[in-house]
Amino acid sequence: MAKKQRPQTMTIQGETIKIVYKDLSDDGNLGSCHCSNRLIKIEETLQGRELNRVIAHEVMHMKLRLSGLYNFMPYKLEEALCEMMENGLGSNIVYEDVD
Ligand SMILES: [Zn+2]
Repeated sequence: MAKKQRPQTMTIQGETIKIVYKDLSDDGNLGSCHCSNRLIKIEETLQGRELNRVIAHEVMHMKLRLSGLYNFMPYKLEEALCEMMENGLGSNIVYEDVD
């Protein structure tokens, strides 16, 4: 199986975002977005498509928060937009196989 290169940083809205991979099993979520720290946490055991989906989801949260758009929507709408990103385009573009 090809090794995967997980992204460690990403530029979102002109800001450098750090992505860390940790054991989040106590957290109850597979990922989390910490906008004020410019930090995204991802469950370290995720791989492949599921990893892409969770990164895409948390990146969308970060985009909505950095842009301030989340101020204009109920949390359920923010979550729905993140799920759209997770299930669409975003799930294929986050990282590629490296051999
Ligand atoms: Zn979410």
